[in-house]
Amino acid sequence: LVRLRQRLAGSQGGLGRGLLALLSRDRLDEDTWESIEDTLLTADVGVAPTQELVDRLRTRLRVEGGAVDARTVLREELVALVDPTMDRRLQVSGEDGRPGVVLVVGVNGAGKTTTVGKIARILVAEDRSVVLGAADTFRAAAVDQLATWGERVGVEVVRGAEGTDPASVAFEAVKDGVDRGVDTVIVDTAGRLQNKAGLMDELGKVKRVIEKQAPVTEVLLVLDATTGQNGMIQARVFSEVVDVTGIVLTKLDGSAKGGIVVAVQRELGVPVKLVGLGEGADDLAPFSPEAFVDALLG
Ligand code: GDP
Repeated sequence: LVRLRQRLAGSQGGLGRGLLALLSRDRLDEDTWESIEDTLLTADVGVAPTQELVDRLRTRLRVEGGAVDARTVLREELVALVDPTMDRRLQVSGEDGRPGVVLVVGVNGAGKTTTVGKIARILVAEDRSVVLGAADTFRAAAVDQLATWGERVGVEVVRGAEGTDPASVAFEAVKDGVDRGVDTVIVDTAGRLQNKAGLMDELGKVKRVIEKQAPVTEVLLVLDATTGQNGMIQARVFSEVVDVTGIVLTKLDGSAKGGIVVAVQRELGVPVKLVGLGEGADDLAPFSPEAFVDALLG
């Protein structure tokens, strides 16, 4: 939490402080409200949520006037916008003695492999047994990278030779997890977004072969927070191809556009569950709307 606060204060602090400064003006005239809208749009909050937030702020400040301070109102409305009612727990446990299976999807470079390693580390720290499946077989480096994470975290990595069918690696990984009775299998996938049909075929097949052995309990879409609208388009394509159950927003440490949290949740109707705050092994944090907004407001 401290880390979240520090990293976000660095990258996102401008957004929160900017809004607060504008709202604290003596007179909230039309120019000021426009600046508030611009600030939100620049931070990738998205058009509809920006309009909604501004309407709510205007109404509340008019009705409640001097009885509330701008900071309190802004905090409450930002938390509401990020939606504290969504269930953000990772579904990592299976049923009937079978492992939970976490499928990790997203375009190349978004931070999938790194995220798989970081999640494994968190689960191991909670005394869970974990197997990793290196099904990103199109990128030899991805398999090696995952193997390195496996060594670092102390978990087994099931891998195939370069060019092996991703579905066969996913199958073997989950089979291994079932045979050995582990708690969770995490499967890294390839993120070639050459065309939707190809992606659908590939991820569909991966999911089908996994589910011959154990239900997929979580499908995490990894999105790079620095990619803005492009990331939103990718998110849409993936959500049409596979039932995404949670979002991991990476590289929030390198982006001032934390508003993407709101935009992507709205777009997909699923919660941001984890945020990436750096390249290190500990730089993945559960996402909390309250902590996020507090970090924004400094
Ligand atoms: P993949 O192709 O989706 O598997 O992406 P990788 O896991 O290989 O990550 C791509 C690059 O992004 C690597 O250099 C990672 O170290 C870096 N990366 C991943 N997550 C984060 C993050 O949260 N913050 C920062 N700053 N870098 C990250």
